[in-house]
Amino acid sequence: MPTDPVISVKGLLKRYGERIAVHDVDLEVARGEVFALLGPNGAGKTTTVEILEGHRCPTAGRARVLGVDPVKGDARWRARLGMVVQSSHLTDELTVEEVVGHFATYYPSPRSPDEVIELVGLTEQRNQRLRSLSGGQQRRVEVALGMVGRPELLFLDEPTTGFDPEARRRFWDLIDALASEGTTIVLTTHYLEEAERLADRVGVIVAGRIVAIGPPATLAGRHRAASVVRWREAGRTVEHATDRPTAFVLELSSRLGGEIPGLTIARPTLEDVYLEMIGAAA
Ligand code: ATP
Repeated sequence: MPTDPVISVKGLLKRYGERIAVHDVDLEVARGEVFALLGPNGAGKTTTVEILEGHRCPTAGRARVLGVDPVKGDARWRARLGMVVQSSHLTDELTVEEVVGHFATYYPSPRSPDEVIELVGLTEQRNQRLRSLSGGQQRRVEVALGMVGRPELLFLDEPTTGFDPEARRRFWDLIDALASEGTTIVLTTHYLEEAERLADRVGVIVAGRIVAIGPPATLAGRHRAASVVRWREAGRTVEHATDRPTAFVLELSSRLGGEIPGLTIARPTLEDVYLEMIGAAA
């Protein structure tokens, strides 16, 4: 049975004086979806997310989040959301355990603070004061605070900035687990690999406008793009773009008498199509 979208946005516009930060954005996010917003610095990602969180008023347009206009969202509505904002300041004297436990009391049906601390990988630091944590560990506390209320919809603004590679992978597993429980997740990120790994759909925003939207694997016709076959021949690297890489490689192998030295076959990565889109839009 189809359900109403968790997020529905039509003609969203945000102006700061003369500058238009968000320009005529239309967007729907379905229940249970993981949606990633990509775009260069200053593109309008945070502004869009903060309007959806009820932290900024749009200049024009219509937004509904869990069926409510975010400008009018009350405490009950807010308790259904989780938020990890871009920069909070956790220079507190409280310990990890104290702050997560304290936040849990704000919500009607919180997760166990112990479980959340474990999920974000801070069990060893649970008795450390926040101000003594590293940048990446503080970010993990922020992620813990965003999820402790068992949100239906979780906003994550650049959640893994400052994470080491292992923490990032661990975070990805955490997002998988939340998504499999049915949590709808909207994240912004500059890590294309992260968007590819996590998102059911991505939206690319440039200068306030959404220029492409779709599953990462097929964004901008990526799956139909030519493959580039590279190999070594006569002491140099040769490359050839083709729509039929298998047939090309078979012919090449036959011409070179079997093994093809230094063979690689590459399709455009999400980063390739993203950079092309950004360049074209600029
Ligand atoms: P980043 O990747 O750097 O976080 P972003 O895509 O999240 O960027 P926003 O923070 O939404 O971008 O900013 C969009 C535009 O709006 C930028 O040009 C920014 O300078 C401008 N802007 C954001 N907040 C304000 C504000 N409070 N007053 C004036 N201009 C603002």
